[in-house]
Amino acid sequence: MRFAIIGAGMAGILATIKLHEAGHDDVVVYEKADRVGGTWRENTYPGIACDVPSHAYTYSFEPNPEWSHRFSPGDEIQAYFEGVAARRGVGDVVRFGEEVTACEFTDGRWRLTTSTGRHDAADVVIAATGVLHHPNIPAFEGIETFRGAVFHSARWDHAVPLDGRRVGVIGTGSTAVQITSALVERVAHFCLFQRTPQWVIQVDNPAFSAEERAAFRADPDKVRRLHDNLSRSFREAFAAAVIDADSPKMRAIEDECRRNLEQHVTDPVLREKLRPTYRAACKRLVASPDFYEKIQHPNAELVTSAIVRVEPEGVRTADGVLHELDVLVLATGFRADRFVRPTVVRGRDGVDLDEVWKDGPVAYLSVAVPGFPNFFMLNGPNGPVGNFSLIEVAEMQVGYILQLVEQVRAGRCREVSPTWQATQDLEAERREAAVGTVWTTGCNSWYLDKDGIPATWTFSFDRFCDEMAAPRLDAYELVG
Ligand code: NAP
Repeated sequence: MRFAIIGAGMAGILATIKLHEAGHDDVVVYEKADRVGGTWRENTYPGIACDVPSHAYTYSFEPNPEWSHRFSPGDEIQAYFEGVAARRGVGDVVRFGEEVTACEFTDGRWRLTTSTGRHDAADVVIAATGVLHHPNIPAFEGIETFRGAVFHSARWDHAVPLDGRRVGVIGTGSTAVQITSALVERVAHFCLFQRTPQWVIQVDNPAFSAEERAAFRADPDKVRRLHDNLSRSFREAFAAAVIDADSPKMRAIEDECRRNLEQHVTDPVLREKLRPTYRAACKRLVASPDFYEKIQHPNAELVTSAIVRVEPEGVRTADGVLHELDVLVLATGFRADRFVRPTVVRGRDGVDLDEVWKDGPVAYLSVAVPGFPNFFMLNGPNGPVGNFSLIEVAEMQVGYILQLVEQVRAGRCREVSPTWQATQDLEAERREAAVGTVWTTGCNSWYLDKDGIPATWTFSFDRFCDEMAAPRLDAYELVG
């Protein structure tokens, strides 16, 4: 069997390793860029880190004793993925600089076309294309007239000097908050344009000492235990809380965020500007060691008046003020409904994935779509994002996909895809379970689809583990 994986980020590297381990040696990975790493290759903004503790944000089979901090910076995470990929021979099967532009299922196989005009065929396609991948660039009037530098946070222009300059950042999500912490003291003036305030939970970010790292190196089991303990406590403390908005755990998180705001913002006017009117964790919770401290720095200004337009000298807000800037950063998030798109994917009888998803992306257990045989996604639609570690999720999904693939390898069928009935039933249940989660308590966020339903896993973590442990074959159509 030949496998084609789209994307060499965290999930694509993982899928390659696990396919090789399972004895599948005809694997090709198509990667549009010139390096592995996905989100950690693309996001290089100042202050970038992962707010999942580093020892939990690793593959379970590749613990890393060398993390520098509890929440290590992005370049270390990128180096980790590059290191794993190199050690496991992943790079040998990646075709860099080649984007898959189309996948069409004809005569029982997937026919791939790439940006270099190459054609390939595979029995199985795994789309490991990420969740937050395509920048959301709002159409600010006049942005093309701005005389300074303007770029999205995921397209950071490192040629643009920042020190001693006037920098504006639009947005108050996790990205903008990390940029704020990193830049406020470096620049002459820092403007944070806030449309909606965010709840911020305070986290400490201590460095691991040389002794601690040596102890991890000496005892790999210690690192594994730490990984497992962190993952478990994250699930128990956070993943369980967000699906039950009225739970004591959710209230405790909320109290923690409120306490952070009350204790750390001394100016009552600024404090009220920073106070959200919705429940904590309704939007993706922001974690930061020092955001409130930095936004109170004399260099920093929180702008809450709405942006009217961008002018050659800066940003004009509804109160008439022109905020003069040298650099404008759009930390305005991502289009979270894209998944494998813009790649054209046509399943059985030429049915277009775009057409199937015209009312919003759906997938059975977030990994497979009816009518698209032997086509799988990692961290696909309506899966656990935001309430679980995406690495842990992808590991379980790969294990699940391998079991489905085994049906083909063992000759029990040639094509496997979920039934519409199973997909629709699960989707109905998932939407029903959304009531009572914190995501539906009254806020706007990238979790919500056009009907206001969170496009995420609204059930428990245990349910996800159970589903991933073994496919229910009666939910699948096995053909041939
Ligand atoms: P985001 O959470 O979607 O935030 C986008 C921000 O831009 C929001 O504050 C939004 O305001 C604002 N915005 C969008 N359009 C605007 C407009 N037209 N005018 C004014 N403001 C506008 O994006 P993000 O911060 O890049 O984070 C995305 C996700 O990436 C996070 O939720 C998280 O899952 C992940 N992430 C994780 C980490 C980590 O440490 N693990 C770090 C960074 C990002 P509104 O709130 O009013 O819409």
